[in-house]
Amino acid sequence: MTKYVFVTGGVLSSLGKGIATASIGRILKNRGIKVTFLKIDPYINVDPGTLSPYQHGEVYVTEDGAETDLDLGHYERFVGIKLTRINNFTTGQIYYSVIQRERMGDYRGKTVQVVPHVIEEIILRIKGTNRNNRYQAVLVELGGTIGDIESQPFTEAIRQMKLKLKKNVLHIHLVLVPYIKTAGELKTKPAQHSVKTLNELGLQPDILLCRTEKPLPDSIREKLSLFCNVEKEAVIQAVDVDNIYKIPTNFKKVGLDKVLLDKIQIKASKNDQQWDKMVEKINKIHNRITIGLVGKYVELHDAYKSVIEALTHGGIENNVLVQIKWIQSEFIHDKTDLKDICGLLVPGGFGERGIEGKIQVIKVAREHGIPFLGLCLGMQCAIIEYARHVLHKHDAHSTEFKTDCHDPVIDIIETKKNIKQIGGTLRKGGYLCHLKRDSKAYRIYKQDEITERHRHRYEFNNQYRKIFSDSGMVFSGLYKEKDLVEIIELPRHPFFIGVQFHPEFQSRPDRAHPLFSAFIKASLDFKKSEEE
Ligand code: GLN
Repeated sequence: MTKYVFVTGGVLSSLGKGIATASIGRILKNRGIKVTFLKIDPYINVDPGTLSPYQHGEVYVTEDGAETDLDLGHYERFVGIKLTRINNFTTGQIYYSVIQRERMGDYRGKTVQVVPHVIEEIILRIKGTNRNNRYQAVLVELGGTIGDIESQPFTEAIRQMKLKLKKNVLHIHLVLVPYIKTAGELKTKPAQHSVKTLNELGLQPDILLCRTEKPLPDSIREKLSLFCNVEKEAVIQAVDVDNIYKIPTNFKKVGLDKVLLDKIQIKASKNDQQWDKMVEKINKIHNRITIGLVGKYVELHDAYKSVIEALTHGGIENNVLVQIKWIQSEFIHDKTDLKDICGLLVPGGFGERGIEGKIQVIKVAREHGIPFLGLCLGMQCAIIEYARHVLHKHDAHSTEFKTDCHDPVIDIIETKKNIKQIGGTLRKGGYLCHLKRDSKAYRIYKQDEITERHRHRYEFNNQYRKIFSDSGMVFSGLYKEKDLVEIIELPRHPFFIGVQFHPEFQSRPDRAHPLFSAFIKASLDFKKSEEE
C-alpha cells in the first residue's frame, strides 16, 4: 500500500517548504525507503514555462523535457533521483483535463463541479505518481500557504484521501515560530492560527514542523502540542542553517525520522550514513573562492537556483566554499573590474537585456585567462564574442536579438532533415551528446557519450563551423543525429568552455557535475597563479 505524506505550509511563504520536503525524502531514503515526489502548484498557468523568473524563480527542466517548479530540483538533488512530468502539476492542468473530458462527453450529462469532479481529477493525479507501485511513499508538497483561496480544492483532496486511506496518509504542516527580540520570546500564536485554519478545512496535521531562529525549548513544544492538537514528540524544530544540505541530518537528530516511521508504519532499515558523512565533509571546509555570475536577474537569486547549487557542489568536491559575486555586466570593461573573482559563469537566459555587457565580460575572461563557463545563452554569447573580436565579424549576432545581422552565428537552424525548429518549439529535455576524444570535455566527463538537459530555441549556425575551427575553437560535443553543436572550448585557454545545455540540472551535492567540479578546480588554480 502506498503511503502518502502531504506537506503544507502556514503563516507565510518562503519558509523552505520545498527543501523541508526534499529533506524528509532524504531521511526516508536513508532508512531504505523508496520515495518519489509530487509538487502541486495552485496557479492557473499550465506550467511555469511561460512565467517570468521574477514571479517564479527558475524553471527546472526534467530529463523528459517538462518545464517544472524549482522544487523538483531540490527533490532530485536531495534524493538523487530523476523525476518526470508526472511529478508536478498545476490547477491549470487539472482544469484543462476536466474541461477536455467534459467536451468528450465523459461526464454523461452531469453538471461538472469542483466537488466531486475537480477533486477526483486531483486525487487521480496524486495516485498516478505511483502508477507502477515502484515507490513505498509519495511525498506531496502543496504550494502556497494554507488559507489561500486557490489551494482549497487541494486541501479538500487531502481531507478525502485521509478519510479513505486513514493511516496511509500523513500530514506534515510547516509553520513559523518567530522570535520577537524586544520580548525575548518565541511566539506560537501564528502557528496556532494556521492549524486552526487547517481545522476549519477539515484537516488535522500529524506532525508540526516549526521553522525557527532558535531551538524550541520544551515549554514551547508543549504549548504547541496542546494548542495545535499534535503530540509533543511530533512537534519538530527546523532551526535555520547556514547550508541547506545539513537539514536532513538535523531533522534526524531531533527524531523526525523516528516519528515519521512510527506514524506511517513502514519497516525501515538501519540509517545509511552517506549523507551525514557528506555533511561532516562540508563542516570541515573553510577555504573560500569567489565566482562571478553574470545574470539578468541578479537581484533574484531564485532565478539561478540550480546554477548556484551546482557551483556549491563543485566547491564541496574541491573542499572550498563558493561565494558568488553577482555581476551587472554593463559595468565591466577590463580586468581590474573583475579583480576579486577567480572564475566567470554566464548562465542561460532569454531576451536582449544585458547581452552586450555579457559579450564584453566574456572578452575580458578570454583575453586574460580567467576560467569561463558559459551555459546555453552563455555559450551563445561566447560564440558571438569570438566571431566579433577574433574573426572580426563586427556584425555577428544571434537572430534572437538581431534578425537582420550580417553574420547570424546563432540562429534557428534547419536540421539535416530540413525541418525548421520553429518558434514556439524549444528544444527541451535530455539529448545525447558525443564527445570528441582528445578534448578538455572528454577529459572532464571521461565518457564518449553523455546526456544533458536542454531548454532553448537557437543553435550554433553550422555554416560558420569551419572558420571557427580554423582559428582554434574546438567543437568538442555534438548532437550527432542532427549535427548540432553542444560544447565549444578554446584549448589554448586554461578553462574556456561553453555548453548549449544546462548541466546544472544534473549536479548533486554528493556527486558534483563534472563540468562544475572542473570549473571550480580551474578557478582554484587561477587563484593560486594570481597569488604567486
Ligand atoms: N535564448 C536562447 C535560446 O532560446 C538561450 C536559452 C537559454 O539560455 N536557456 O536559444
